Amino acid sequence: MLYSDVSSLHSIVPQTKWSALQKEAMSTLTSQFTVSTTKLQQLTEAFVQHMNEGLTAQKGACKDLAMIPTYVTGRPDGHERGSYLALDLGGTNLRVCLITLKGDHALESHQRAFKVSDHLQEAHVSELMDFIAASIKDFITSEHISSKIVEHPSDSETLELGFTFSFPVTQTAIDAGVLLRWTKGFCCPGAVGNDVVQLLQEALNRNGVNVHVAALVNDTVGTLLAHSYTHPNTFVGAIFGTGTNGAYVETTRNIPSISSPAKEMLVNIEWGNFDKDKEFLPLTIHDNKLDKESINPGVHVFEKMISGMYLGEIARNVLLNLIGQRILFGGVSSEILNKHYALETKFMSDIEKDTSSTLTATATILEQELNIRNSTVADREIVKTVCQLVGNRAARLSAMATAAVIRQGLSNGIQEKHRHLLRVGATVVSAVDEKDVINVGIDGSVFEHYPYFEGRMTEGLEELLGPNARHIIKLGIARDGSGVGAALAALIATKNN
Ligand code: ADP
Ligand code: MG
Repeated sequence: MLYSDVSSLHSIVPQTKWSALQKEAMSTLTSQFTVSTTKLQQLTEAFVQHMNEGLTAQKGACKDLAMIPTYVTGRPDGHERGSYLALDLGGTNLRVCLITLKGDHALESHQRAFKVSDHLQEAHVSELMDFIAASIKDFITSEHISSKIVEHPSDSETLELGFTFSFPVTQTAIDAGVLLRWTKGFCCPGAVGNDVVQLLQEALNRNGVNVHVAALVNDTVGTLLAHSYTHPNTFVGAIFGTGTNGAYVETTRNIPSISSPAKEMLVNIEWGNFDKDKEFLPLTIHDNKLDKESINPGVHVFEKMISGMYLGEIARNVLLNLIGQRILFGGVSSEILNKHYALETKFMSDIEKDTSSTLTATATILEQELNIRNSTVADREIVKTVCQLVGNRAARLSAMATAAVIRQGLSNGIQEKHRHLLRVGATVVSAVDEKDVINVGIDGSVFEHYPYFEGRMTEGLEELLGPNARHIIKLGIARDGSGVGAALAALIATKNN
């Protein structure tokens, strides 16, 4: 396979300086990392099928796509008004926000972060919740914030709160979810097996804070809702950051476990776990090595091909393999490059951006970050090509998941009117009315900062959904799902009661 077969969204690396052995090794790598249109189509079909299997699975059945119903039964249209609180607990910082929705797609946001001490991460959960309640009280009674609440009062006297809780929970209602296990260094006793909303509400009551916890949300759902406020007909919320995941809108009649009069419900796909049995994904020896050496082998193999936590490590594995074959850096590695996760995804971004004729920025990264000195131009061209192969594959697989979710929308009735326009071979339309656009809200540094990621995704979407995909599907950055999105979930929950 020729190098030029790789996406046009590369600054093509001149390979004139490569030796015959280098050319051969790079040609092999190119074919291993290139996901053809046919392969993408096959993956899309499997993805759609697994989505439906996840939706209809019996409780306890272990499907790769969990397809978790979120009990969020509506989407904002940008006309919502009122002040809502949002709370984001997901790591060492607790973030409290006041979101004032002003209607007409406009909003104001004020926030404060509180540090969750090491002690609190291990203390009894009632102590953690008391700290959260006190932080909320502190925030809403501060002069600056309380004046904002009066300015745009919400419908009720009690402030409604949306809670983004980034730990594994099984949700049983929009305002109820049982903690399955702690992650990320937390281990507060008294929480696992209990409803985290109830634990927080009890602490708020105990501390005399007049706040009602109205909704518990996952970050993908928050992203979808936040984007929906500014972009009508947002159908997908996706994360391409440390990890990757997506949420979308499903008709309730397609979710057998839910009996609700509502027409639609957001579903959290948990797509990082797609194809856990490794039946379809084009895994290379480099991916398998990464997985085997990771803290969770066999889990989230799809995420490991796509997300920011892993892309650098795949590239590092490839480089070490080339060094081992004495094809790169004269066969000599460095102590740093030999360390797991030493090559950050951000370095790949910077290397792909390097369009200088002798790849001087790449030389600097190799030298300063990885202690690889005296690289030749041919070496650096190889390094850049490896980044392109890994980065392009990630974007194309991201397009595949997005296309599969949109295809589900074409068949579940929610995006039905696009059925004839979103297929390979469809009649080409020159433009689409703004109201007919399918918006995809995306959060995460990989989508936002990795060069060509969006263009490569769009290219993949066109291969899968035809020539109109570029006009109909709009990928957009949706920041602050855990703030604005959680506030909107609280609004939807209160309006539905
Ligand atoms: P999170 O997903 O944890 O909320 P982010 O969306 O910021 O946070 O994603 C963090 C991930 O993005 C990290 O894995 C990091 O390697 C990667 N990343 C950070 N900066 C860049 C960049 N400039 N280009 C590509 N990836 C990046
Ligand atoms: Mg994030």
